[in-house]
Amino acid sequence: MAVDATQPYDDQNVFAKILRGEIPCRRVHEDEWTLAFHDINPQAPNHVLVIPKGAYVSWDDFSAKASDAEIAGFVRAVGQVARAAGLVAPGYRLLANTGPNSHQEVPHLHVHILAGRPLGPMLAAMP
Ligand code: AMP
Repeated sequence: MAVDATQPYDDQNVFAKILRGEIPCRRVHEDEWTLAFHDINPQAPNHVLVIPKGAYVSWDDFSAKASDAEIAGFVRAVGQVARAAGLVAPGYRLLANTGPNSHQEVPHLHVHILAGRPLGPMLAAMP
């Protein structure tokens, strides 16, 4: 179901459960601010989700309320995950869905890193 990104944080969402260790993930990176793991339904050969450890519904929530340290830590982690996976030279795409028109499904901010093949025009890659 599409997420209303204006709603309060729901701590029963699937990424909150992953952060609490209640359900597993295929982790690729973890630091003070951030967890990154493989998407369970990959849309490209490389499809990793990077999430902040803080309770933020969306990019909107995060950009308005997170501390400078959280924002810096998260943004640097996104770059680090892509760099460590060797994705800079071939290229990669970042995607952060926010709210119903974007088809956001999980109400905890996540940035998709998509790579590993030519991804085509911007919106055609994920219809
Ligand atoms: P979005 O539409 O931007 O909210 O994307 C949510 C993403 O979360 C989708 O690509 C799902 O495949 C992915 N997803 C949902 N549940 C899990 C899970 N348990 N582990 C990893 N990825 C998940």
